[in-house]
Amino acid sequence: MKTRIKVLCADITTLEVDAVVNAANTRLLGGGGVDGAIHRAAGPELLEECRRLGGCPTGEAKITGGYHLPANHVIHTVGPVWKGGRSGEADLLECCYRRSLEVAAERGLTSVAFPSISTGAYRFPVEKAAGIAVRTIGDFLSDHPRMEVILCCFSESDRDVYRNALERWEKQE
Ligand code: ADP
Repeated sequence: MKTRIKVLCADITTLEVDAVVNAANTRLLGGGGVDGAIHRAAGPELLEECRRLGGCPTGEAKITGGYHLPANHVIHTVGPVWKGGRSGEADLLECCYRRSLEVAAERGLTSVAFPSISTGAYRFPVEKAAGIAVRTIGDFLSDHPRMEVILCCFSESDRDVYRNALERWEKQE
């Protein structure tokens, strides 16, 4: 498993993978943060395709083309807004990771890069989010031996948090 989850500090719009995951909002019409960066890099064709999807509920995932991105596809998922932790936020974040990977697997995609879903504008605590991400991805990969996942952080401090979470998860596996 070790070699199939990688933690990087990078701009997700530069990654050459089968799919990058977008931390979108329920309207799927673009926004700030990583969503804005992905739409800017992919070009207006991405927004056009997104308009036809009719939005996406929190915890779900929908796939589009990658257009001008080096990635072939974008998987749009909607993370939960952190409201203190008693509103099902952890389960919904787990759903985001699992549903995104299921959508990728249905298409036969084998390399997927995730941003740190919900930990920006949606304020989910990053330590907690990292634990959920590595556990959900790790469980999924044990049933999907051809898949590889990148956890693409946008700061060195987030990268360290995800690396620590990954190490802890690997030790207990
Ligand atoms: P959310 O609304 O789900 O919290 P944000 O886009 O606000 O989503 O933040 C999610 C994470 O994405 C944050 O850690 C943010 O720093 C990071 N991020 C922003 N731009 C990029 C990018 N170009 N590549 C990778 N990660 C990014």
